[in-house]
Amino acid sequence: MSWPARPPLDPEAPARAAGTTSSAALDLLVTSCAACPRLVEWREQVARNKRAAFRDQDYWGRAVPAFGDPDADVLVIGLAPAAHGANRTGRMFTGDRSGDFLFAALHRAGYANQPTAVSADDGLELTGVRITAPVHCAPPANKPTPAERRRCSPFLARELELAGAPVLVVLGGFGWQAVLASLADQGWTIPRPRPAFGHGAEVTLAGPGGRSTTLLGCFHVSQQNTFTGRLTPAMIDDVLRRARELTVA
Ligand code: SF4
Repeated sequence: MSWPARPPLDPEAPARAAGTTSSAALDLLVTSCAACPRLVEWREQVARNKRAAFRDQDYWGRAVPAFGDPDADVLVIGLAPAAHGANRTGRMFTGDRSGDFLFAALHRAGYANQPTAVSADDGLELTGVRITAPVHCAPPANKPTPAERRRCSPFLARELELAGAPVLVVLGGFGWQAVLASLADQGWTIPRPRPAFGHGAEVTLAGPGGRSTTLLGCFHVSQQNTFTGRLTPAMIDDVLRRARELTVA
């Protein structure tokens, strides 16, 4: 397994996010973060106890950095790493059913060189897309607390600044709210009332310096959505097709 770099743990890492000057530096800082005691304990406990199917594997057990093309036109924003998915593999959305669905869709849309993602060294490469989350550590029951969300928010804020992506594909209402809050903090003009999340929602926002970005809403690729048919391959394909249209226009 070729893990991302493992710098020493740092409880003050979020405070340094604004000072990073590249996606690589931001990713490295995220992997050092130990700011949330509950999540640090949980991610390490899961990594020690493991799921039976993965008992022979060395879990990552740390904050998971963003993954993909640092010059992406499309930033995909999820919720948080899964305990036995990205918390195991060290790479966003990799190693669980959510990732199976997402990477297959990215491959169909021409953003991924292969449809599968099983580990951090499986050869998967993304072109034109980078994937991140508002919370970088696996939370118990997939539910970060409001304080944990706030603590992790400097990483998303810096990601949005550094990436400067013209299209943000937001998977689920949690990410949608986090992105709008972060852009508002950075001086972007957010309509009132705030645009509501929905699958297929589309809103273009104006930012400082004449920048603009378009948010595209997509139901989250969680098993609850994909196994029940609430989110189908055709539905996410439509969103990614729209993302492509917006970035080649
Ligand atoms: S959730 Fe975010 S702020 Fe909290 S420990 Fe993980 S990376 Fe750090």
